[in-house]
Amino acid sequence: MGGPNAPASGYFVELDNGRTFVLDMGPGVFVELQKTADPAACELLLSHVHPDHTADIPGLLVWRRFHPTAPSKNKNLLVGPADIHQRIGTMCAAMGDESDSDLSDTFINVRAVPGEALMIGGEPSDGGAVVTPFEMVHPVPTVGYRVEADGFSFAYSGDSAWTEKLVELARGVDVFICEATWCAKEDGVPPNMHMSGYEAGRAAALAGVKKLVLTHIPPYANGEEALEAARTTFDGDIELAYLGMEFGS
Ligand SMILES: [Zn+2]
Ligand SMILES: [Zn+2]
Repeated sequence: MGGPNAPASGYFVELDNGRTFVLDMGPGVFVELQKTADPAACELLLSHVHPDHTADIPGLLVWRRFHPTAPSKNKNLLVGPADIHQRIGTMCAAMGDESDSDLSDTFINVRAVPGEALMIGGEPSDGGAVVTPFEMVHPVPTVGYRVEADGFSFAYSGDSAWTEKLVELARGVDVFICEATWCAKEDGVPPNMHMSGYEAGRAAALAGVKKLVLTHIPPYANGEEALEAARTTFDGDIELAYLGMEFGS
């Protein structure tokens, strides 16, 4: 869920070869993307279908199809798990006519299959990224993504409850962007949905990451509590995610 200074969820990646992609496109992300890059040139990778990760896609579609001088020149990848393409199509159709449910005029639909690496933005020899989806635990099919490019690596949990797969997802990465929705709360939270800061820290410690970035903290929650919780289980570098945060090689 976004806040006054935090469109969410969405993460922009620019490779050394100039190619770009976005991980998730929740409310406010399309607006920020317009300040940073050509929205019609980005590949789009989705962790899952929940609206706080996809709600800006209809706006992006309008840009890609109807911008008078800069519509999308090429089809870009739309990557996501399970039946997400159909569900995103239905969401867009509800805002236009029925033909909007087929996005194949402007996107190449690619299913994110856990464990099957994808080349995004070109082959690795041409500066492209190797992106590997991992199955996460959430009420709908959800993947986290491990991204390796240009001698730098990061992992993104998407939304997930604790799972051993987090350790595999984030093993040895430079930066682990991990959700900590429950902050310092462990008891009385719904099962199989989200993580606390304690769990995010535990995943970071077991995976041996260099830096942990806590994200997906609701605007009405206290991020400092998530930070303190994570510090009890991970003694490496930890920060709360914020708008405009950058990292890379
Ligand atoms: Zn979700
Ligand atoms: Zn979410």
